[in-house]
Amino acid sequence: MPNTHQFALERPFQLQTLPTDGKQFHPDRDVAETEFKALRKEFVQLQRQLYAEDKQKLLIVLQAMDAGGKDGTIRNILKGVNPQGVRVHSFKVPSKEELAHDFLWRIHKVVPARGMIGVFNRSHYEDVLVVRVHNIVPEAVWRPRYEQINQFEKLLHDTGTRILKFYLHISKDEQKERFQARLDEPDKNWKFSREDLEKRKFWPDYMAAYEEMLHECSTAWAPWYVIPANQKWYRNLAIMRTIVNTLREMNPQFPEADGDLDQIVIE
Ligand code: ATP
Ligand code: MG
Repeated sequence: MPNTHQFALERPFQLQTLPTDGKQFHPDRDVAETEFKALRKEFVQLQRQLYAEDKQKLLIVLQAMDAGGKDGTIRNILKGVNPQGVRVHSFKVPSKEELAHDFLWRIHKVVPARGMIGVFNRSHYEDVLVVRVHNIVPEAVWRPRYEQINQFEKLLHDTGTRILKFYLHISKDEQKERFQARLDEPDKNWKFSREDLEKRKFWPDYMAAYEEMLHECSTAWAPWYVIPANQKWYRNLAIMRTIVNTLREMNPQFPEADGDLDQIVIE
């Protein structure tokens, strides 16, 4: 049974001790890529059934440091999936209108409907990460959010949504290399942001915020997975394995045909 990297609470716990390197979990990149493609085929089929069944919902949450690979994950995982059955939402700095509401307002509006898969590129977790690290609101405001998030996710779960949360765990060195590539390679220049360099200075604070988030918000109904993400091929495989396993459990079925179709004659 391959390691799913589901976060298991252990005290004392330090994110630093969890692997960023996927190579130790898989000996061979080519084999991993072959397995990934086979699983993606199965994912495409299961997604068709989920959409046709029109009963269950799947929510996939992606969080990572800058250059952690959220975009690449979405591109690779969703390739070939029927776009009508999937919605990707990227959460940016909240607008004035969003800030005038509670922090879950903009999230709740776009959670997946029946039959749908929702993918969050960043999420409500920004409200206990960037917001905490940069003191955008006081602790008295962000601390209760862990519990509010757990309750919110419980509501989604109890109303038919399976939730998978992936933290793409890269090392600080790997982030440096990826930023450098954004500077060096013309077709990656557009991704470079000076702001990201500012955030990099707060790496330890972000790690502490991620640690507490994992600690507080790993629940039976909405587990966190800490994915070793330095190697993109392993990251993709580990995430795809969890998604496909979950969809197999959800076991979506094509609906029953409408009466006896054999009797129907099309003039
Ligand atoms: P890329 O990784 O490709 O740069 P991105 O997800 O970083 O994509 P950007 O537009 O560069 O997209 O950045 C979005 C920014 O919005 C991030 O810095 C993120 O921390 C910030 N953000 C998201 N949600 C919130 C929030 N609730 N409060 C404050 N900032 C937020
Ligand atoms: Mg960015």
